[in-house]
Formats: sequence, structure tokens, C-alpha cells
Amino acid sequence: MYRATLLFLAALAAPAAHDFSGERAMDYTRKAVAYGPRPIGSPALRRLEAFIVSTLKSDGCQVTVDSFTGHTPNGPVAMHNVICRFPGSTGKAIVITGHYDTKILPRFVGANDGGSSAGLLLELAHALQGVPRKDDVLLVFFDGEEAVKEWTDADSLYGSRHLADRWQADGTLARIKALINVDMIGDRDLELVYDMSSSAQVRTLVWDAADALGYSSHFPRAPNAITDDHVPFLQHGVKALDLIDFDYGPNNSYWHTPEDTMDKLAPRSFEVVGRVVLEAIRRLEAAY
Ligand SMILES: [Zn+2]
Repeated sequence: MYRATLLFLAALAAPAAHDFSGERAMDYTRKAVAYGPRPIGSPALRRLEAFIVSTLKSDGCQVTVDSFTGHTPNGPVAMHNVICRFPGSTGKAIVITGHYDTKILPRFVGANDGGSSAGLLLELAHALQGVPRKDDVLLVFFDGEEAVKEWTDADSLYGSRHLADRWQADGTLARIKALINVDMIGDRDLELVYDMSSSAQVRTLVWDAADALGYSSHFPRAPNAITDDHVPFLQHGVKALDLIDFDYGPNNSYWHTPEDTMDKLAPRSFEVVGRVVLEAIRRLEAAY
């Protein structure tokens, strides 16, 4: 009886985290893909944004929309980053990011590239809801990751460049312990890049977490260097990491083609990345 009461009190004090479901992350991704091609400024992307906002609100996180104008080779475009906050008490923040726009290409629905990052972040919100936090956890859905024409410093990463500047100005960057960006993580043949442009400290923490969970085969240590939404934050001194599988189909042949469809993805890949990110958050909160 005494023992049971103690257990009951313990359960009240620390509600168990929801498990990260790869199936549910896939379902969110399928929903995103069902809106069709979702390039910057499109009605389909606005419909997906509304779905993201309403889903996040139902998961109990504090949602804000960061609206700005992206100056693209096609002229000014209204863009919207979506930010969801689960508040902690230390004043420090852990930030998980990914993009939800798709590249402007004919018949391109971006199941993996743009879809999987949005699906994973939505399932993270589900897994994080209702759990007391030490640090703030912020989930950020970037608009405008893709280049409108050819990839250059000026024509790419519109959302992350904007937010890094805004957070520099308002002091948020100084509160960030680590930022982890996810991109193209749904490939059924999951092999993540050991990104040498990223923070070595965060990379080691995340790869150690993957090893501890038994996912080493998906987290090899084959070095590469990737330019993605983590870079504007690195440039501002934030410890940031990119988690990307940049080997999508034979010789990356599904990347930026109409072949980037749901049938190339698997729930287990979302589950592996989602669980590693949750373990990384736990380790970051415990670390300092
Ligand atoms: Zn892309």
C-alpha cells in the first residue's frame, strides 16, 4: 500500500514522456505531401502552415509565427517560420529545427525533402507534450530553405538566416545550449552524414546517444560537409548540428526529383532519428 502510494506520487510528479512513434511521424509527413508541391509563397504551403499551427496548439505548446519577407531572385515573397515552445525554468534553450517548404520543381512533392522534417518535428511535439522541462525546448519549422534558382548564399536558407538575425538581436541566441537541424531523415535506407561543418561537441553528443540506443549502423562516422539551415546559427556562434541523410536512392537520384515520394520512406527511420533527438535533449538538459 505504502509502496503503491509512493509510485502513484512519483507518477504524478514526473509524467512519462510519450514514446516517439515513427508511424505517426510518417502520417504527419503523408498529410504534408497530400497538399501537393509546397514551394515558398504557395497556397499549399499556407495550408500546411495552418495544419502545423493547429496540430502544435493541440499538443499544448506555445506557438508563434515569425513572418518576414524573403528577397528572392523572383522578387519579394511573404514567408513564415513556425516556432513552438515548451517552457523550462533555467532560461537556457535547446532548439530542434527543420524546413517545411519544398523546392520549386515540376511534380515535386518532397516527401523526404521538406516533408520528413515537418513530420518528425510534429511528432516530437507530441512526444514532448506535458513533460516538465529543465530547459526551454523550441521546435522551429523553417520556411524558404530551398533556393528559388541556383543555390547561393543569397538564394537559400531564407527562414534560418532571418531567424538567426532576429534571435541575435533579441538575445535568444545567447540562451541556446545547442541547435539540431533535421533534413531528409525519412529514407528507408537511413544513413546520416557525419557533418564536419557542425559543432563537434553536439555531433559527439548525438552520435554517442545513437550508439547508446543501438542505432550505430544509421550513424556511421563517414565525414562530409553540408550547408543547411544550421549554418546561419553556426555563423552566429551557436553550437549547431545538421542531421541529414544525403544518399537518397541510387547515387542520391531521388533527391530534388519527382521520385521523392512516400514509398521511399519508412517509419523506422523517423523513429530512429526521433528517439536519438529525444535522448540528445535529455543529455543536454542533464549536462549543464
Ligand atoms: Zn532540398
